[in-house]
Parts: sequence; structure tokens; C-alpha cells
Amino acid sequence: MSQARPHPLESDFVRDQLALRAVTLNEVRTQPEGEYVLYWMQSTHRFEENWALRQAVLHADRLNKPLLIHQGLDPTYEHASDRIHTVILENARALHARAAALGLSYQFVLRRRRDDDRRVVDRLAARAALVVTDRFPTAGIAERTARFAERAPCRVDAVESHGIVPSGAFVKEEYAARTIRPKIAKLLDLALEPVEDRPAARALPDAIWRSLEVDRLDLDRLDVAAEVARCEIDHTVPPVPFASGLDGARARLHAFCDDALADYAERRNEPSDTAGSSRLSPYLHFGQISAAEVLRTVRAAGYAESAAKFQDELVTWRELALNFCLRNPEFGKLKGLPDWVHRTMAAHTDDPREAIYSLEQLERAETHDELWNAAQREMVRTGHMHNVVRMLWGKSTLLWTARYKHALEHLIHLNNKWALDGRDPSSYGGIQWCFGKFDRPWFDKPVFGVIRPMSLARAREKFDAEAYIRMFPR
Ligand SMILES: Cc1cc2nc3c(=O)[nH]c(=O)nc-3n(C[C@H](O)[C@H](O)[C@H](O)COP(=O)(O)OP(=O)(O)OC[C@H]3O[C@@H](n4cnc5c(N)ncnc54)[C@H](O)[C@@H]3O)c2cc1C
Repeated sequence: MSQARPHPLESDFVRDQLALRAVTLNEVRTQPEGEYVLYWMQSTHRFEENWALRQAVLHADRLNKPLLIHQGLDPTYEHASDRIHTVILENARALHARAAALGLSYQFVLRRRRDDDRRVVDRLAARAALVVTDRFPTAGIAERTARFAERAPCRVDAVESHGIVPSGAFVKEEYAARTIRPKIAKLLDLALEPVEDRPAARALPDAIWRSLEVDRLDLDRLDVAAEVARCEIDHTVPPVPFASGLDGARARLHAFCDDALADYAERRNEPSDTAGSSRLSPYLHFGQISAAEVLRTVRAAGYAESAAKFQDELVTWRELALNFCLRNPEFGKLKGLPDWVHRTMAAHTDDPREAIYSLEQLERAETHDELWNAAQREMVRTGHMHNVVRMLWGKSTLLWTARYKHALEHLIHLNNKWALDGRDPSSYGGIQWCFGKFDRPWFDKPVFGVIRPMSLARAREKFDAEAYIRMFPR
């Protein structure tokens, strides 16, 4: 008699990955009388290659319980706006359409106004055996989850699905790309092993669905624009064209592999070339596609040299930023910077500035430099800012405030309010890089001190700045 093949979710590989990705956040036990396992989807808005979902399925089957997947959207997250709400709601509609085919019970609750029912997750957790959620250090998710875990009546596990290499493989804060790169190189191919997913063995009974007194959003008849208009959020940040969801992400990925990957190393340096890089960062930020799927697809497309450059951005720099935000609680403050940066800032804090701009002037793109203004306008109008001008945008702002602290706060505010990929670990990694994070000291200069300088004037010699400025006119 042939032996049944163990399911891939029961493999040593999955067990090892989960051991490095999952943390238990409270000391409450699993509740045997709980009616289901709850997966509270917060940052990984997909069913594929979702390690928290895998953990939830495994536990549901071990406990012989059904699995309930819950996603909620509140008006209270920082920078809640039409732009971000639209992306999340459009993706929820796509998830709902796929859930039934995958055998998953998925529900979405929209809290439109601040005084609407704010205890939905608590009420769902009250009847759960175990809650599994996403582990994500930014966008207020870690704090919200920690508060929830303190009051939850059952065990709460948080599982990271952001990186390809599990974040637990890096046990301390990494110093720079050159320190994390060799560690990633040893683990990456193994971590890319595909896993066959499955739904929980037991379906959620209708009786439980009906008895859950939560006002589920009707995703079959969802009018996204109308719902967004009813929400108590910032309506001055409008939606931008963006094909939200896994299908949109895959279409973008394949277009990039077909049209731009071959010349990625050069084209990514030209800001007026809107197709020169993948533009996948919002999809990756919202967890609509896994970084592992992106990398496997890029590797399979050929162009080994370009794929290696792309991998360095997608894995080394992205996972360095994740490691920074997971391991350093000061990731959004000057305190998150190394000692040499503090010393040079102290020495240059009173240097005269060529200009000082308020947050409002910066937000309205009212500086003396049209290249900087065009970068700011690109982000406000499209939700995206090209990587090359993003570095210049950050470095120049450092020069244009009375105190370094103000520059950091202004950049975080603008980036997280307007960029579709904002509020991500890479937001903090990228912005703090402008202040010397992950870098080494350079030559001493006014205001920059020994932080690596970058100049808008010199940049004009390296790419077609005028073409870029024409794309985002006043
Ligand atoms: C001041 C500043 C702010 C930034 N803010 C953000 C942000 O809010 N969100 C964000 O995702 N990235 C941010 N970055 C990093 C980078 O600019 C963007 O990830 C990249 O421009 C996204 O475009 P793309 O998807 O076409 O990138 P591609 O060149 O196609 O790269 C592929 C993927 O690799 C990752 N990646 C690329 N460059 C970096 C990098 N330097 N650091 C970390 N990950 C990287 C992204 O996920 C990106 O989608 C910032 C960089 C700077 C200097």
C-alpha cells in the first residue's frame, strides 16, 4: 500500500521558515473551546505565499477548527486618505472574488467613521481558539497589534511575510548593505523554494458566519469611490491610477520583464523614463504580491546581469530596511542613526542654510529648485517618485531646514502622506539613508558634515532633468 505523501505545509522547510518568521505576542494559551482560528490580515493583503495564513491554516488543522480570515479598514490610521483607502478596497474586492475558489472564508469590515464600532477584532477574537496576524514594523501595525495582544483572550501569533529571507535569520540590527548581503546570499535560494498552499480542512459553518455580529462589507456590490467618499478620512489626497491587486501586480511584473529588465541597470538611472524600473513598490508595500514571486519571475526572464542588480534592490536594500525597522525602535527618529552622524550633526547644526522652507512650502513644491519641485509634484500627482530624484529630494531637504530633526520629520510626513508605497520599512530605510544610515562618513561639507552629499546641480549633468521637469509642470 502506498503511503500518503505529507502535505507541503507539513514539511521541514515550512516549519523552519515559520520558526524564523513567527513570534507569540502574549502569554495566553490557545483556547480549546474556541470556534475557529482567526487570521487577522493587516499588512499582507494576499492569499499566496502568505506565511501568516500558512501558520493559521496549519494551526486550524491541528486544532481541527475552521479558519476565518478577517481584514478591517479604519479611518484612524496615520494619513488615512482616499488614495490609500482606494488601493485597499479595490484589492479587497479582488481577494473576495478569489477566496471562494481557493476555499477560504474571507470577510472585510469597513469602519467608516471614527465613532463606528471599534471592537470588531476583539469580538472575533473572543470566540477564537488562536489569532494569527501579520508582523510588520511600520504603518502603526506593530503598535496596534501589541495593544490588541495585551487584551486578547487567546494566544496571538504575529508572522512576517515581507522578506524573502525570514527576518528572524538576522538576529541583530545590520550595519550596512555590505554586512547583510553575504548573509542573504547564503539563505536566499533556499528561501525561494515554492510551497504548495492549501485551505484549512474544515470550512467555516454558515451558522458561525451568521452569528458573528459584524457588519461585513458587501464586496459583490462594492462601489469603491462611493464608499471612500463616505469615510471620515483625508479627501484632499485623491486616488491615482493604479491596478490594485495580484492581477495588476503580475501584469506590471511581466511588462517590466518583457520591456525593461534587459536594460534595468542603465534605464533605472533616468527619471524621465517612467518604465525604466519595475514600479512594483506599492504592490510590495501592501503585500499584494510576494517578493519571492517577483524574484523568481525576474530570474526566469533571463538577463542575469540585470536580474542581479534588481535582486540587490529587491532583496538587499529592501530587507536591510525591514531589519532596521524590526530591530531598531527609533527607526523614525534621528536616534536611529549611527554615532558618527550625531557627531557630525552636532558640529554643523548652526551652519548657515542656503534656504529654509516650512513643511507647507515643501508640500506645495515652492522651493527655488525646479527639479526638487518636480519630484514633489510627481509624488503628489502620481503617488510615485523616481528613485534617483527621491535620493536628491531627501538630501536637499536636509539642507533646507533649520534643524536636521525638522528635515527628517518633513520627509517622513510628505513621503508617507503622498506616496503609494509610503509607511513601509523602505520609506524609513530610504529617508534615513539620506541622513547617513547604512553609509560611511565622506568628506566634510557645510550642513551635510561628513554625510554623503548629493547636489541637484550636479545631478543635472547625469540625467535629462529638463525632460523630467517638463513631465511635472507647475
Ligand atoms: C528618500 C527616499 C524615500 C523612499 N521611500 C520609499 C518608500 O516609501 N517605499 C518604498 O518601497 N521605497 C522607498 N524608497 C526606496 C526606493 O526609492 C523605492 O523602493 C523605488 O524607487 C521603488 O520604485 P520601483 O518599484 O520602480 O523600484 P525598482 O528599481 O524596480 O526595485 C524593485 C523593488 O526593490 C525595492 N527597492 C528598490 N530600491 C530600494 C531601496 N533603495 N530601498 C529599499 N527597497 C528598495 C522596492 O520594493 C522596489 O519595488 C525610498 C528611497 C529614498 C531615497
